[in-house]
Amino acid sequence: MTAKTNLFDLDRAGLSAFFESLGEKPFRATQVLKWVHQRGVLDFAEMTDLSKALRQRLAETAYVATPEIITEKISEDGTRKWLFALDGGNAIETVFIPEKQRGTLCISSQIGCALACRFCATGHQGFNRNLSTGEIIAQLWVAEQQLRKEQDKAHHERMISNVVFMGMGEPLLNFDNLIRVLGIMQDDFAYGLSRRRVTVSTAGVVPAMLRLKDQAPVSLAVSLHATHDKLRDEIVPINQKYPLKELMQACRDYVTGGEQRRHITFEYILIDGVNDSLDEARTLVKMLKNLPAKVNLIPFNPFPESDYKRPSQQRIDRFRDVLVKAGLVTVTRKVRGDDIAAACGQLAGEVNDKSRRQQRLQQTR
Ligand code: SAH
Repeated sequence: MTAKTNLFDLDRAGLSAFFESLGEKPFRATQVLKWVHQRGVLDFAEMTDLSKALRQRLAETAYVATPEIITEKISEDGTRKWLFALDGGNAIETVFIPEKQRGTLCISSQIGCALACRFCATGHQGFNRNLSTGEIIAQLWVAEQQLRKEQDKAHHERMISNVVFMGMGEPLLNFDNLIRVLGIMQDDFAYGLSRRRVTVSTAGVVPAMLRLKDQAPVSLAVSLHATHDKLRDEIVPINQKYPLKELMQACRDYVTGGEQRRHITFEYILIDGVNDSLDEARTLVKMLKNLPAKVNLIPFNPFPESDYKRPSQQRIDRFRDVLVKAGLVTVTRKVRGDDIAAACGQLAGEVNDKSRRQQRLQQTR
């Protein structure tokens, strides 16, 4: 007996191959994609445009794995955070941020994170493993279903208009699953999200940035956070492997050539007295000159294990003004969902740490 196939793990190409292996026509893939991802139907018996025999066959060979919701928290500002149970006592977090004109889902790509950025709660928890294609896409599927339950029946637009890979983990270190997930999100028979509406955020995995450019049309965000290697080595340790010079070159390569016009969003966390001086603002301007860039300033969000502080509003505005005066499109990200620890860098879930990061941290204290 062979194990059943989780249909959440398959993009259109994978589903077509799966149906061919059953002796079926590949176009069954688009029918099933629609049932599962658009209509939210997981019970094969309800898929009425498939023959009874095929529905029976699917029940024997396939299933769709939805993770259990451990908690759902709703912030005063409407932000929602779900904690999903996975195997081995692990759990991941997914956040929905409603705004007037759009709804953004922030999803996780790994259980924990191996990069150990100093200012990030996930980084402090250590790393267990990559999420599968199915575990990543399930976050979107479940969030959509949960939101739909409450939605006015007269409204048929999707509440989730944008997806950002800014939850737990480094998406570019889970590359193959990321590519399949992006395929499903952008597939017109599934979620039909355009490339502008799907953003992959990276701490700077240089070789994977260039592979991403070749393989998937999405929006890219780069977590810069520092203007010189000495500081970046310390707060974003992957910089020791791919220093700023290589990272900035990769950014220039990313935006040149290719069919579409591209820009990069640079994320810059503002930590009081660490990276928020006017000098650093001016250096940032120089670094981004000649690049089609936007800047997202993220005031540091505190979490229990960190000593860092958010700068005063005055310091944040001063930093921003330098960028704006230099002509950079700059947005200071609003803090959302911090009352339920759902803001950037506060996601923690339950990580059964295999990197022994917790242990090492305690030894160095
Ligand atoms: N690994 C990816 C995506 C996850 S983090 C990356 O590094 O880009 C998503 C964004 O939140 C990143 O820009 C990250 O640096 C930022 N972030 C992490 N911790 C934060 C904190 N405590 N306060 C504010 N932003 C934080």
